[in-house]
Amino acid sequence: MLKDELYLPDIIFNSILEVTPEFLAEHGIKGILCDTDNTLAYDNRKDIIPEAAEWVKRMKEAGIKICIMSNAYLVRNLPVVKALDIKYYKTRSHKPHQWYYEPLTKKMGLKHGEVAFVGDQMKTDIVGANRADILSIYIMPYAFETNPFYKNIFKKRRAKERKYIKMYNEIHGTKFDFPECIKAEMYEEDIKECVF
Ligand SMILES: [Mg+2]
Repeated sequence: MLKDELYLPDIIFNSILEVTPEFLAEHGIKGILCDTDNTLAYDNRKDIIPEAAEWVKRMKEAGIKICIMSNAYLVRNLPVVKALDIKYYKTRSHKPHQWYYEPLTKKMGLKHGEVAFVGDQMKTDIVGANRADILSIYIMPYAFETNPFYKNIFKKRRAKERKYIKMYNEIHGTKFDFPECIKAEMYEEDIKECVF
């Protein structure tokens, strides 16, 4: 069992567009390791989330480097890499294992502390980033996972995440919660069990 601290993001945002060049500059961040599914592209679909496309454009204009770090296969990631014209990417990255954080940081020509992680899943994206001791930024998922094989896994996974969102709110005095489209797919007892 992993410790609570590992699941807790350093930062929560409702939208990837809140990860601004100004915010990154304040934290000394020059590059982003970024998740794919439900962060840049809709889960299980090839199309890019419009906000994410706009965000990538803004990052490039500001000279922020982006590296996709995805646990999915190359065949899933390649259309996203091409559509967004992303230079650096690592597929089958086995987040939250620690194998690729440093090599990818070096590949971008950056140092430890100059890279943050942006993603929508605590078990992989946030735990991995926290273990790697880099700034962990959690973005609210855009839609519930559609792949029937993973649906039940995600019902439990999102329920667990919501407890950490509540914990984050208590620490930071914020009022983050999943969008209605996510809560609507969760088990009712999980929603009842974790009252904000
Ligand atoms: Mg994801």
